[in-house]
Amino acid sequence: MKGRIVVCKEYNRPFEIEEYDVPDPEPGAVVLRMTQAGVCGSDLHAWRGDMVNMPLPPTGRVMGHEGTGMIDKLGAGVSTDSLGKPLAEGDRVVYYAVFPCYRCHLCLRGDTNWCVNRAYPTAGIHPYFTGTYADYLYLPPRHPVFKVPDELPDELLGPLNCAMGTVTQGLMRADAGEGQYVVIQGAGGLGLHATAMAKDMGVDRVIVLDRLQGRLELAEEFGADHTINIEEYNTRETRVARVRELTNGQGADVVMELVGLAELMAEGLQMLSNGGTFVEIGDIVPGREVSIDPSTLLSGKNILGSRMYRPSLMPKLLDFLVRTQDKLPFHKIVSHKFPLDQVNEAFAQSEWHQRETQVTRAMLVP
Ligand SMILES: [Zn+2]
Ligand SMILES: [Zn+2]
Repeated sequence: MKGRIVVCKEYNRPFEIEEYDVPDPEPGAVVLRMTQAGVCGSDLHAWRGDMVNMPLPPTGRVMGHEGTGMIDKLGAGVSTDSLGKPLAEGDRVVYYAVFPCYRCHLCLRGDTNWCVNRAYPTAGIHPYFTGTYADYLYLPPRHPVFKVPDELPDELLGPLNCAMGTVTQGLMRADAGEGQYVVIQGAGGLGLHATAMAKDMGVDRVIVLDRLQGRLELAEEFGADHTINIEEYNTRETRVARVRELTNGQGADVVMELVGLAELMAEGLQMLSNGGTFVEIGDIVPGREVSIDPSTLLSGKNILGSRMYRPSLMPKLLDFLVRTQDKLPFHKIVSHKFPLDQVNEAFAQSEWHQRETQVTRAMLVP
């Protein structure tokens, strides 16, 4: 049996589709049949060619990291998910989107999302199915996997193991909680989930910035108390002043950068109250710089970075979706679906950089 994967051979070129034999799972491993895979902002960076500082493997990089699927084959010895729930072929699951080494000093202390040996998957190397833009995905032995509750439709699951997990970990690291003012820079898939999660954590006021009005309106549906359209507030000074106004003159307790523009760190620090925390998540492209005034940190302002999440968060995310799916419009986050062989079209339409897009989150469906 053969299956397809999507490979980035060269930056600024269309992705290519390659076919490989689908391997049988070794003992302890699991083969998934992919049902959806999301086009994430970080994948767009690769497509756009922003990642020139990160050389591609000679055979290309296997694309896609978020998504969901169903059990195709269980390796010998696997009969349950990571919580001990029985697993059978055909069961829907979500899996940890990070593939850490489990041996480095960060993995050993539980910070698998900061594994020092993490690398982009290389095309053409067994077990071949190492990205989610594919018909199948190979989960190595002991890889975290969780059965999906029956009441959750597939449509809500795609972003769970990237966008949703990442922003939740970031909010937790920043100690977001009751009575706080949280500013979200960017109302894409990450920002919408961050808005919902921040409100669920008891945050008093969530303020969301973006330049696409449709996304800001969606942010309000997810619980944003205020939105700021940066086309209207089109200078840093007016945006910082607006955040002050909306936070009783105090500034924000937490600002999260979810766009991927370095200068937003300088702007976000100005939006913080003394003692507040700036969380850098969006700026994944190496080599960019921003200048900040370090003296502002002496008033207790923190800067922290956060990438992905720990797998132990995943059952909580599933519970959160079960609890809130009737109240929040998660079904609107995935705005477009494309068959796998139209992956390049999906990326062209998702592109937001220097253009308007109707796409909030696109999903590839094998
Ligand atoms: Zn992602
Ligand atoms: Zn590691």
